[in-house]
This record gives sequence, structure tokens and C-alpha cells, in this order.
Amino acid sequence: MEYQVFRLRTPDRVVLDISNVEFTMPAAAGRNGRGLVRTFRFGAFAQGKARVVIETAEPVRVEATRLIREGARGRHRLELDLVPSGSVDLSEREVAAARESAARLQLGDAVPTPSPPVPPSTAASPRVPVIVIDPGHGGVDTGAQGAVGVEKDIVLAVGRALERALSTSGRYRVVMTRTGDAFVPLERRMRISREHEAQLFISLHADSLEARELAHVIRGATIYTLSQSASDERARRLADKENAADLLAGAHLSADAVQDDVRSILFDLMARETAGLSLNFRQLAAKRMRGNIQFSRDPQRSANFLVLRQAETPAVLIELGYISHAEDERQMLSAEWQRKVAAAITAAVDDFFAKSGSIFR
Ligand SMILES: [Zn+2]
Repeated sequence: MEYQVFRLRTPDRVVLDISNVEFTMPAAAGRNGRGLVRTFRFGAFAQGKARVVIETAEPVRVEATRLIREGARGRHRLELDLVPSGSVDLSEREVAAARESAARLQLGDAVPTPSPPVPPSTAASPRVPVIVIDPGHGGVDTGAQGAVGVEKDIVLAVGRALERALSTSGRYRVVMTRTGDAFVPLERRMRISREHEAQLFISLHADSLEARELAHVIRGATIYTLSQSASDERARRLADKENAADLLAGAHLSADAVQDDVRSILFDLMARETAGLSLNFRQLAAKRMRGNIQFSRDPQRSANFLVLRQAETPAVLIELGYISHAEDERQMLSAEWQRKVAAAITAAVDDFFAKSGSIFR
């Protein structure tokens, strides 16, 4: 078994990459830390590669690693000795390992590979709008965790239901940013949208409330569009949390890819046009979803979500509900509810293209 261990900082993490491992541990494993280990996450990371991210309570160093063969059935145990470390300086090898793994992912090493662009000749019709469905998180990045379920599974189930509903209408070509339990970096999700020249991008997520005392009160779905400054403090914090997905999975490239001044000026000029369309779709979605599913108190909001920063594609991010709320979680896990949401969003998509069709054609 091949493995690689390196550390990352802010927050302090130990990353363990193992080749060809499929995890069968319950999703809740690793939530409750002990000693130096605060939490750990695990899951698919890239082609043939699984990852465990151990968040530590303070800087540590990996004093030793041992791969021990146990019994005759090819079973192995991998042990890491973590000890507190006064210094947080990473070795050159660690920096290189972190860079390389993040860069490889950005270059398209994620699993499974999303459907490749369809050549024009085989596309149903050049006039058929392309819709990108983006189930958030995946693989080592579980997203928000409820009592029973996890965000990555709920949003994938809803994404699949939405894909079915949109595809069967025959009016759209649907592209998913992920079709399985795979980790896909945010930048890659945006690139998929760009490469397919999507005319609508729908990102699916589920929210969670940290404050336990409010968890049984706050519930319902919210639809977000992009804005430089958030509509409110909660929306701002939510965007920070969703934007940290790559960071938590240990796949964060330094901000250079996104935070380029020249690019952002260009972005602002181009995005002005699409911003109006995003707002338009948000409104239509709110209208179709209302009455079908529980809404939050203020269901149309905006914040600076990285994945929505798409200059040429109207984009929304739908938080389907609060996984921290028992009834919301129960509903989000039900196949019937998932179909209902998919149908409501599909109706909004129909409205959107009926209204704005002339712009695209
Ligand atoms: Zn999320």
C-alpha cells in the first residue's frame, strides 16, 4: 500500500493520502476528537487516491509512521505518531507534496471525471440550453453534518433527481460537476461550467447551524446569488464556510488563481449582464419552490460565494435546508421530498428559459 503524509497550516492539519482505498467507516466517524486530534475527515480525493485529513488541536509533527501487516488476509494497519510541536515550519518536502496534490486536482485529476464536453455534431441541438448542476462537496469533503446524514449525500441525491427531471423534458442538456462521491475543487466546478458554456449554473448545498440552542428553530431553504458584500452577516459567514471547502480538504491552491486584479476588473464588466439574469432566476425559483418546501425567513439572499463567480453564466446557490434542524434533515433525506424540490426547480428553469430564451437564441 502506498501512502504519503504531510502537514498543512491554518488550520493545523495532517494529511494522509493512501492509494486505492475505499472507506467503509460510518460517516460520523472522526467527528469527536480526543487529545491532539480535533476531528478527522476521510474519503475519495483523486483518481485512485483516498485522503484522510486530521485536524489537530495544536501544531504537531509526525514523528513516525509504520505500516504493519496484520494476519494473512492482506490486512494492514497504518500508524502515525503525532507529537506536539513548538515550531510550525513545514519541510520543503511537505510544501511540495501539498502543492503537487492541489495542482494535480486543478488539472483534472479528480474522480470520477465529469462528462466531457459534447462535440457539436452529437449534441441534441445547438439551441438546447446547457444547465450545470453542481452538488456541493463530495469525497473527503463531507460538508455539513446532521444527526443522520451528511450534506454531500443529500445534495447529490437532489442533484440526480434534478438531472432526471430536466433531462426527461428533452429541453436541456444537463452536465453534473460530480456524479458520485468525489472531491471536486471549486475552481474545477467553475471550469466545467465555462467549458460547457452553461446558460445556467445551479449549486446545491445544505446549511447547518453551529449554535445548538438555535438549531431546533432555524430552518428552511434559501436561494443565494453572488454579491461582493453579503446581504447579511449570516450569509457572509455561510459563504466563508462554503468557500473553505477546498481548504478543509487540503486541496487549496494559493489564492492566485482567483484573486487576480486584472481578471477581477474584467469579471466585473462581464458579470454585470449575467447578474441580472441570476437575480431573475432566483426570483423564479423562489416562486416555484414556495408552498412546496419550507423556506427560511428571508429566502432570497446574496453573498460572495466563490463558485458563483462566473462572468458569463447566471448562477445560483441553493441551500436546501438546515441539516442541523431535525425536521429539515428528515425531509431532505426523503426521496419524495427530493423529487418535489427537483420538480419545483425544473418548473423555475422552464419559466426562466421561456422568459429569457430570446436572449440566448
Ligand atoms: Zn455546502
